[in-house]
Amino acid sequence: MATSSSTKLLSFADARQIVERRAATLSPTEPELTGLLDAVGLVLAEDVLADRDFPPFPRATRDGFAVRAADVQSVPARLLRVGEIKAGATVEASGISVGPGEAVEIMTGAPVPVGADAVVMVECTASANARVTVQRAVKAGENVVPAGAEARRGDVMVPKGTRVQHAAVAVAAAVGRPEIAVFRRPRVAVLATGDELVDVNLPPGPNEIRNSNSYSLAAQVYEAGGEAVILPVARDDAADLALLLRKGLEADLLLLSGGVSAGKYDLVEEVLASLGAKFFFTGVAIQPGKPVVFGEVALNGKTTPFFGLPGNPVSTMVTFQLFVRPVLDALAGAKLEPLPFTQAILKAALSTKTGLTRFLPAKLDGAHDKPGVELVQWQGSGDLMAASTANCYIVVPPDREQFEAGETVTVLLF
Ligand code: AMP
Ligand code: MG
Repeated sequence: MATSSSTKLLSFADARQIVERRAATLSPTEPELTGLLDAVGLVLAEDVLADRDFPPFPRATRDGFAVRAADVQSVPARLLRVGEIKAGATVEASGISVGPGEAVEIMTGAPVPVGADAVVMVECTASANARVTVQRAVKAGENVVPAGAEARRGDVMVPKGTRVQHAAVAVAAAVGRPEIAVFRRPRVAVLATGDELVDVNLPPGPNEIRNSNSYSLAAQVYEAGGEAVILPVARDDAADLALLLRKGLEADLLLLSGGVSAGKYDLVEEVLASLGAKFFFTGVAIQPGKPVVFGEVALNGKTTPFFGLPGNPVSTMVTFQLFVRPVLDALAGAKLEPLPFTQAILKAALSTKTGLTRFLPAKLDGAHDKPGVELVQWQGSGDLMAASTANCYIVVPPDREQFEAGETVTVLLF
């Protein structure tokens, strides 16, 4: 275990593994019943069950005619139209049955009547008055989903631990659940440090900059299903920092930005150490984000994990995704999700130095069959403009310094 005085640079893979192992030991927040749309982005704390068979009746998947397949094996076949059934048909209409030589006009989503075992698409028929001519044979079962084929009453349709997105919302609505149990959003304290920082609604002096990290972090927290509690900016002063750190440690997770590099006023590790912090790592061989710190503090009977993220805005964003996310996911009740890596063709040559795993802001184009990627121009890890233009990072392994245009590279999606 590293201490603040013995900084050891871990490889990206080792650091990620430490984070994943710690994450696996964390318990999720408590479940609460939540309105369906407020649950989007949160994690299911219960199985969502089918309240009846799905579909509840044999469902026509085409507009056309419900028939007995045996009647239409040699075509053209002439049938007698004995009625009509539309979606949501009344009990009387759905009481219609199809006998030999008969057909019932049917609409998509309607219950297939007793006696029929297939639906012929309307495009393959011609009808005049009560006569229907079927021009194409169908097999038994064609264009019909049998009752219960998707799920049986009581089946788990969406399991606990699933992150709620539009499809899960659709299922919950379909089984009559306006509210579902999800784990409460973990509370994440966000503490920016730096004498140069002013808040977004104040005018910065000539050598001051606005605090953007608290907001980018809060946005990332929110996107991950957490609730950010933005604390006042801590001055580069041990007493001020200690005060705000204690406040931040009351949350489920504490994120600091800035103050973790080797500068004279980078006091974060020192002050955390004075509160008895355990450090799991205090540096990772990556760029941007090398000084990133991960640990926990036990205070007042409560152990709170924390991350000290480097203050450069792009470093803050990358290290959140690489390391904070698994911890936040675990607190939010989600299973460990792998990082969204993919591969793409490099559009222009790229060169870097060896030694660090690099995550370079880049732009992936929209071609689905052969995606291309290129670096965005950037002025280093303080470049917010580059970060907002990018939609991914090109991942450069530590042993490579040159890639040619046309090579396949690994890309980390946002
Ligand atoms: P530090 O990690 O404290 O050495 O800061 C590295 C760089 O990031 C410096 O240029 C800081 O001004 C900048 N920076 C630090 N914190 C923030 C913040 N909250 N918002 C925007 N930029 C920041
Ligand atoms: Mg600083």
